[in-house]
Amino acid sequence: MSIDTKKYAQELYDLAIHDNKLELYRSELEKLNDALNFDIELNNYFNSSNYSSADKKAKINDLKLNSEVVSTYFVMVDAINKTHIETQLIHDFLTKYYSREKKIFGTVYSVRKLTDKAIKDIEKAIASQLEREVKLENKYDGDLIGGIKVVVNNNIWDASYKTRLKDLRNDLLSDDKEIRNDSVAMSKHIKAQIDDYEKINVNVESSDTVGYVTSVADGIINISGINKAMASELLSIGDATAMVMNLEEENIGAVLLDGEEAVSEGSVVKATGRVVEVPVGDALLGRVINAIGTPLDGKGSLKNVTYAPIEANAPGVLDRQSVSEPLETGLMVIDSMIPIGKGQRELIIGDRQTGKTAIAVDTILNQHGKNVKCIYVAIGQKNSTVAQIVKRLTDEGAMSYTTVVMAGASDLPALQYIAPYAGTAIGEYFMNRGDDVLIVYDDLSKHAVAYRTLSLLLRRPPGREAYPGDVFYLHSRLLERSAKLSEDKGGGSMTALPIVETLAGDISAYIPTNVISITDGQIFLQTELFNSGNRPAVDSGLSVSRVGSAAQYKAMKKVSASLKLDLAQYQEVLAFSQFGSDLDANTRKTINHGSHLIELLKQPQYSPVAVEDQIILLYANQKGYIDSIAVEDVKDYAKKMLLELHSTYPEIIKEIADNKVINNEIDEQLNGAIGQITERYKASK
Ligand code: ATP
Ligand code: MG
Repeated sequence: MSIDTKKYAQELYDLAIHDNKLELYRSELEKLNDALNFDIELNNYFNSSNYSSADKKAKINDLKLNSEVVSTYFVMVDAINKTHIETQLIHDFLTKYYSREKKIFGTVYSVRKLTDKAIKDIEKAIASQLEREVKLENKYDGDLIGGIKVVVNNNIWDASYKTRLKDLRNDLLSDDKEIRNDSVAMSKHIKAQIDDYEKINVNVESSDTVGYVTSVADGIINISGINKAMASELLSIGDATAMVMNLEEENIGAVLLDGEEAVSEGSVVKATGRVVEVPVGDALLGRVINAIGTPLDGKGSLKNVTYAPIEANAPGVLDRQSVSEPLETGLMVIDSMIPIGKGQRELIIGDRQTGKTAIAVDTILNQHGKNVKCIYVAIGQKNSTVAQIVKRLTDEGAMSYTTVVMAGASDLPALQYIAPYAGTAIGEYFMNRGDDVLIVYDDLSKHAVAYRTLSLLLRRPPGREAYPGDVFYLHSRLLERSAKLSEDKGGGSMTALPIVETLAGDISAYIPTNVISITDGQIFLQTELFNSGNRPAVDSGLSVSRVGSAAQYKAMKKVSASLKLDLAQYQEVLAFSQFGSDLDANTRKTINHGSHLIELLKQPQYSPVAVEDQIILLYANQKGYIDSIAVEDVKDYAKKMLLELHSTYPEIIKEIADNKVINNEIDEQLNGAIGQITERYKASK
């Protein structure tokens, strides 16, 4: 066809501009175009030279188009002289029109009319490839059989069934004879290929961010058809949500976060463009939520919250300062010998049932009135255990400053995997506004196991103990987010108490060694100590706090300086003492002192001791008053002594509580007071 429709289209366009009616022309011609594009009969009628312009005009009466535009259009058509190119004229006009808007006008061919939404999606997909905006008309093409074909400028995207069938034919012809002669194999092969068409069809008709589930099992889904997604991106699958874990060339591996029941093969998946987030804010205090922020406590939805991504960069070196303030656990054995500073990461490690959780919970209870926000992250625990902890926190009034993030043993492994990150994001919100935060991860062994499960299901290569290679990074990037921020950054802090469970005290297993190397020390709990009644069952020899002593109060430092050594010496000579009575005086003294000290450091659950009381008790220990009491009376003595001191010498207590130093004056007063009380106590026995 040698007639240049473009020339006429240009004239039509100029005329429209001249009359200042470009928009009107565009909308009317587009309507006409739409009508012609999918009505084959009408299209043929229009492109036939057997009918006059008047006939054609009558045919489109129903469309109620602007008569002026229609007349002008047919003037042009007549000028072209009744060749079969009338729709081409409209096409050229629209091309001109959209080029003015810096858009390329193109055509998407299909057998069935596409929805506006589908066309928009295709436009977006093509635009991102061409890096230009695209406007598409939708035209009928029965030859395609199914699927679509897009023509923009000189580019063709062919996802039509016709082409696919052609490919299939070629494929089958080139296949080896084996398959061709085996009808079962052949039909399987064809079926697989046809399944593929469906996929490709969905893919092209939608866009980069919409795909479909190809397989679902054990909370893991594989997705095809999404070309644009990022790591940790949230995917929505109807009512279900999932998180991107594996990004591969043709496939996305994702883990389901909820709504597992709603997902099946072929479900449509939409990438949301957001990473997984949790609600953060004051409204979280007092609440029990799951790892994606859904309340589990039946107290209604969360109000006045903002959202934060669960993964965030750890504060940089310059944004931190070293720990300078103690975080009091209220447990004497810890505050004296393994002091924890605000912003520190102190591991609690031990076998099962050795009181690990108890230490963490007691520490939370001890933050009462100390303006520390607490977050307890329960990972892979029984619901009943967590319910008990929540009840205890509620009863003791600790929930008012505490958030519980819970991913139970029966929850999807993905929820267990993200729970600590979610808790940390909530903590960061408080830390970044200058608050002090305490976060407990109970426990990271189960977290690592959940991650191992996910990784194996995602077919990532297993390494040592079948954990994936990045299990170290899993915990280091988590714990690095705890910090004491510099004054420039508001001076907030997040103290982490990760918990790790060992098997038969083996701290050299993979996960324990990893976490030990990431943290600033560990509190090691011993089954033998626990079973022999030494609770908290802290092994003072294996426990250490690498930074906390910098934050310890002067008075506490003074009275606790020799404790570790005393206990170590005691342990050393203890074995001898069992052989007989002929021990020298020094050894007897060491044993006597050690057994009294151990008795003093025993502490029941849920009864934190204020730091000034701890200082006084350890002072009494240092001065030998404790040793002068019968071992079985130590606890009773300690209780009564404190009680009397509080009632009779409140000014001494206040002085120590306020300044946390024991100067000469206080030393004298305290020594005198305790001396008197001790005498009276002994006399009463
Ligand atoms: P698991 O490995 O099951 O998580 P765990 O190491 O966290 O156990 P806990 O649950 O804290 O241990 O404690 C185990 C048991 O010991 C509980 O019944 C708890 O009440 C008790 N217990 C813990 N600490 C003390 C303590 N200081 N005094 C007396 N009993 C304690
Ligand atoms: Mg526990």
